[in-house]
Amino acid sequence: MAPPGMAEAAGTVVAGLLAGGHEAYFVGGCLRDELLGRPVHDIDITTSALPEEVMALFPRCVPTGLAHGTITVLQEGYSLEVTTYRTESGYADHRRPEHVVFVRDVREDLRRRDFTINAICCGLDGERIDPFGGEQDLQLRMIRCVGEAEERFEEDALRMLRCVRFASVLDFAIAKNTWRGLLRQRDKLAHIAVERVRAEVERILEGPHPQRGLGLLLRSGLLPRGKAPFPWTGRDLAAAAARLAGLGNLESARLRWALLLHALGSSAASADELLRAWTFPGATRTGVVAVLRVREAWDAALSSARPEASGAGERLRRRWIAAVLGHGQSAAEGWLTLLEAAGADAAPATGAGATGPAADVPATAAVAPAATACVLVADAGAPATSADVPDAPAMAASSIPPVTTRLLRSWTAEMPIRTLAELAVSGHEVTAVLEKRPGPWLGVLLHQLLLAVAAGDLANDNQLLLEAAQRMDRDE
Ligand code: ATP
Ligand code: MG
Repeated sequence: MAPPGMAEAAGTVVAGLLAGGHEAYFVGGCLRDELLGRPVHDIDITTSALPEEVMALFPRCVPTGLAHGTITVLQEGYSLEVTTYRTESGYADHRRPEHVVFVRDVREDLRRRDFTINAICCGLDGERIDPFGGEQDLQLRMIRCVGEAEERFEEDALRMLRCVRFASVLDFAIAKNTWRGLLRQRDKLAHIAVERVRAEVERILEGPHPQRGLGLLLRSGLLPRGKAPFPWTGRDLAAAAARLAGLGNLESARLRWALLLHALGSSAASADELLRAWTFPGATRTGVVAVLRVREAWDAALSSARPEASGAGERLRRRWIAAVLGHGQSAAEGWLTLLEAAGADAAPATGAGATGPAADVPATAAVAPAATACVLVADAGAPATSADVPDAPAMAASSIPPVTTRLLRSWTAEMPIRTLAELAVSGHEVTAVLEKRPGPWLGVLLHQLLLAVAAGDLANDNQLLLEAAQRMDRDE
């Protein structure tokens, strides 16, 4: 359903075109989504009016794609795309048509559209024109090319990803001929700019059925090529798919990408490189990478833990706190949420000598054999308190008990402060009391203080912090 204001504005534009003596219809995605009872986010209009005629009728407009016949009309605060009936031909680069011809018959225009469910139009009187059985395919929940699938995918290779995206987002099947055509033309996707590929894969991954979409991508062979910017093989994707059960449970796009890259075995550094190559915006990229860095910090903590040594649990707690401080609370929380969604709690919380299922827990995938006793299990229950943490000697006697996400959350919650800004001492005060010029040492020392306060070794008190700074400086 379109927001009422948008539907009204689009109605005004269609009425204006009709009053000017032209034909005009609502078309494409807005009709499809309206018929499915899904939210309509934009309304496209198709018309017999030539672009200049559209511009003459609506002075407030932008000639968005004049050569292709698209004018964006600004009406009552909404941007509406008005496109002249057209046909296309000569897709030399497997993406854009070389020739666009304006035509007089709306059916000709519908014929150039990708899928039957996107090739329906509707007049102001509510009457629909549906020459390719789009409505029936909506009922059948089927993605089907208009015309000969192989030809349509060869013309414009992006349609193959759109096909997978619609099948995934709408949870539709793909018609046999359409799928066959896609398989025959899949190599043509190499002609599509990485930004366009990324935009479609984003919509697949961030949609309601990401696992289905990834499964289709896997089976289609559209993506895996074993070389940048898609460094995975089909085997990599198949192995990852088995670890993605919780993908749809994650609300945040950042965590979905993090889980996917985690399942694909990407290091934080290679994920960073990959997301750059995929032209992700910086904020998304750094958010995803920070979550993977928490994973690496925690994996390193687990693999260096010696469960039999006294104080092993306390050392793990400090390593976790250092990870929270180093990569941010949001990334640390993200990592825990990801683990829980990934179903890490399927692993039984066993103690010393745990093997078998524990090895399947994502967070312990990189754990060295010496640390297999430290099983990280997800536990999203009520927050634990320190009282739940066995004391160090008990841990030493019986190895480290299972470290749950609940326990890690409680360790985070108990940190009195989490950022340098919260530290009750300024860099200026520290340099003054130590009578030293500021330099790289200052940042190191402030972080030491932060870690000491966050871990509960030191009260966040100005005087005590200055004294500690003097001690640390002396000991250094
Ligand atoms: P959404 O807006 O949810 O992505 P949509 O179907 O509206 O879905 P748009 O990119 O807005 O997609 O395109 C509007 C319409 O233009 C489509 O419904 C379809 O009729 C046509 N269309 C878009 N891209 C292509 C394409 N690559 N090949 C053929 N027709 C296309
Ligand atoms: Mg649209």
